Amino acid sequence: MRVSELFTRTSKTVPADEVAKNAQLLIRAGYVYKVMAGVYAYTPLGLRVLENIKQIVREEMNLIGGQELVMTSLQRPDTWEVTNRWSDDTVDVWFKTALQDGTELGLAWSHEEAIMEMMKQFVKSYKDLPTSVYQFQTKLRNELRAKSGIMRGREFVMKDMYSLHATQEDMDEYYDKVIQAYKRIYDRLGVGDETFVTFASGGAFTKFSHEFQTICDAGEDVLYINSDKTIAVNEEVLEDATKELNVKKSELSPVKTAEVGNIFKFGTEKSDSMGIRYTDAEGKQQPIYLASYGVGVTRMMGVIVEKYADDAGIVWPEQVAPFSVYLVGIGDTAREAEELYDKLQSEGVSVLYDDRDERPGTKFADADLLGMPHRVVVSPKLVASKEYEYKARAQSAVSALTQEALFATLKPAQGE
Ligand code: ATP
Ligand code: MG
Repeated sequence: MRVSELFTRTSKTVPADEVAKNAQLLIRAGYVYKVMAGVYAYTPLGLRVLENIKQIVREEMNLIGGQELVMTSLQRPDTWEVTNRWSDDTVDVWFKTALQDGTELGLAWSHEEAIMEMMKQFVKSYKDLPTSVYQFQTKLRNELRAKSGIMRGREFVMKDMYSLHATQEDMDEYYDKVIQAYKRIYDRLGVGDETFVTFASGGAFTKFSHEFQTICDAGEDVLYINSDKTIAVNEEVLEDATKELNVKKSELSPVKTAEVGNIFKFGTEKSDSMGIRYTDAEGKQQPIYLASYGVGVTRMMGVIVEKYADDAGIVWPEQVAPFSVYLVGIGDTAREAEELYDKLQSEGVSVLYDDRDERPGTKFADADLLGMPHRVVVSPKLVASKEYEYKARAQSAVSALTQEALFATLKPAQGE
């Protein structure tokens, strides 16, 4: 893609009310457009990042048998009334609306009940179990505070998966598989070393749910961790957990974290409250075990920006970067730069080519702000020796590389 063709452009200013670093950088670089507090649109650049994150999540969900679908944003009150979650007293984030004839509707903040209601139509017998479905959906939540940029939206993308089982053992076994899949996801997203699975309150069936918390200064949660990061305990269960793990509170220190995933077992709760049953091999009616698994997709994007950015701008890890290479032509090198642009693309390297008639300083500043992992410059002084200037975004060293060496540097990054 050519920078001259992007409708977005970089900017030095951000909305006055935007305090979060992730949103400031993403807005300045043109990845997101702020519509109002907690509500952001994703531009073609931003969408590419989101799609990369989603693809990693999708691959891991498919590997454990998840079937992708997409539910609806408009929901019926009665779906939620049976479980007492339509009332604003029990769920405080509902956006509600109405049809022209006055019929009330809800805008989906979650899909637990909605999924179960649909599955009731299809899961009738033990032969239909287990089954596991997931989606990427825009959730709408009337959040009280929205100060963390895309990390806390009133409209945000979540991956939510639901698994249905005939027995508790089957649910437990699958749940553990999902934990492993989540670990692979956070590893692949480049935050594995700093993401911890912790107990938190909020599980319905067991006392606890599991949260995936990533160390991040802009996060809203706090974990207590030991010096070698082998123990991480959620603040809200600190007392219990220190006893159970037999560690002293003084050995743990607080770090700020962001909840990037949350999984928990409903057990038979939804099946019971919604009156959903399957027929077992003996012809008896039995309750269905349910567990639910969320990943904050847009929050994840914000966390990655927060963790990797430096003073000059965003630094994308290769696997989520919208483009691998930011190609800059300076001076009278348009022909050579065009040639390299074609060659990189034909070799399968994704490139954002800064073909604008701008000063080199402007292009370099944008390369830093936009954060592609590799910067390649075609400059008059290297053209004669058929070399290119190369710099990794995350490093300060600049080197002159032959075309062969350049491709050797860029190609291993492909398909990582
Ligand atoms: P939080 O405690 O941060 O409010 P939650 O526990 O209400 O989140 P879940 O319903 O468990 O969230 O949603 C699953 C995941 O979706 C969370 O782990 C988080 O990563 C993400 N998420 C939740 N709320 C938001 C939001 N308002 N904006 C962006 N991502 C969110
Ligand atoms: Mg949660």
